[in-house]
Amino acid sequence: MSIKMTKFGGSSVADAVQFQKVKRIIEADPSRLFVVPSAPGKRFAGDDKVTDLLYLLYAQYNSDANYSDTFRKICDRYTGIERDLGLHTDIQSELDAILKNLENGASEDFIASRGEYLNALLLADYLGFDFVDASELICFHSDGTYDDETTLRWTQKLENMTRLVIPGFYGRKRDGSIKTFSRGGSDITGAIIARAVHADVYENWTDVPGFMMADPRIVDHPKVISTVSYSELRELSYMGATVLHEDSIFPVRKAHIPIHVRNTNEPEREGTMVVPDSYLRFYKRTGTMTGVAGRTGFTVITVYKDNMHNEVGFGYRMLRVLERYNVSFEHVPSGIDTMSLVIADVNLKDHLQQILREIKRDCNPKTVELQSNMALIATVGKGMVRSIGTAAKLFNALYEAGINIRMIDQGSSEMNIIVGVENEDFPEAVRAIYKAFSQDGQE
Ligand code: ASP
Repeated sequence: MSIKMTKFGGSSVADAVQFQKVKRIIEADPSRLFVVPSAPGKRFAGDDKVTDLLYLLYAQYNSDANYSDTFRKICDRYTGIERDLGLHTDIQSELDAILKNLENGASEDFIASRGEYLNALLLADYLGFDFVDASELICFHSDGTYDDETTLRWTQKLENMTRLVIPGFYGRKRDGSIKTFSRGGSDITGAIIARAVHADVYENWTDVPGFMMADPRIVDHPKVISTVSYSELRELSYMGATVLHEDSIFPVRKAHIPIHVRNTNEPEREGTMVVPDSYLRFYKRTGTMTGVAGRTGFTVITVYKDNMHNEVGFGYRMLRVLERYNVSFEHVPSGIDTMSLVIADVNLKDHLQQILREIKRDCNPKTVELQSNMALIATVGKGMVRSIGTAAKLFNALYEAGINIRMIDQGSSEMNIIVGVENEDFPEAVRAIYKAFSQDGQE
């Protein structure tokens, strides 16, 4: 029988109504044997996330501020779920224990982790599943980084177990102290558990229909990507498209487990499958573009020098300047006599003038040109570079929208064409590219 590991994000487990949806989803498919919930998220715009309240509680308690209002809000969320579902989990004594722990000097991570812990207790009770604490399964090194090796060992105990609820977001160090992942980290827990139980699919249930072909804040109702490969997703995420926690990919990617992103509020919809690159051929995909994503706020430094390609060490000298200022670069498009550095403004900070001065000094170029306020847009699709007419279509779309292309970089990837445009042209350029490619796109 196939095994599905199902992870539910904060809004999917925000209250009793959402718990009911979760139960329907779990009961609709007997292969959904492992469940990882987040802490209760927002029920409506402007609502509190319980994890935020827990961080606040910790801060208030430790600065002698009044925390009673915050604690009451946290209690209300859990006792509300327990009451509305007619459960007898005795969540109140667990809540009281949080205050006791605060008094005894509990760490911030411990307090923050209680959001998932309590929700998992309630959900296990409601589903009739067993509860297994994440602190028995997920290990962190003493320096706070995730310890994959020990986790692999600890999670072996899951081998002959099924119908489990395991809280997301945290684990423990060997000394017993609780440690959380970074925010949104329940995705990572889900991925680790999926690998441990040899799941066939890692289902990630959220409040969005899946990955969109473009940012819905820029493009009106973009289509949902039905299938995306791990490496395409990496390119899109790097360019700013996010649904999953970045680090959550690696355990399942290593184990070749597909991730299925789905919407708890619309379980009838297909969602998005994220699959290993080699599996792509088993999925029907239409169109050349998988998605378009981009970011604003780049500076491009272009250096010209005759016969640069013959000069040993030119690139090295140029990059060494960046190293001196601890500035990383995003891309290095180059030609026979030119080399450009594409740098995100956040990394450049206030070093631009010194960097320019030192490039002139160390590289002795003919000219140095500066383009600021640039946006980079990646048009991503496996095989698109090889498909005839793709580039023409892309550049034509931008030409027709009256957008000036300031830079083109195909990089070494066969699935990505990056163009640089003015920051102010960014949304229009994304819309133009989306329009040109989405006609034949997915779903
Ligand atoms: N509850 C945690 C957070 O809000 C972790 C998660 O939801 O994934 O960041």
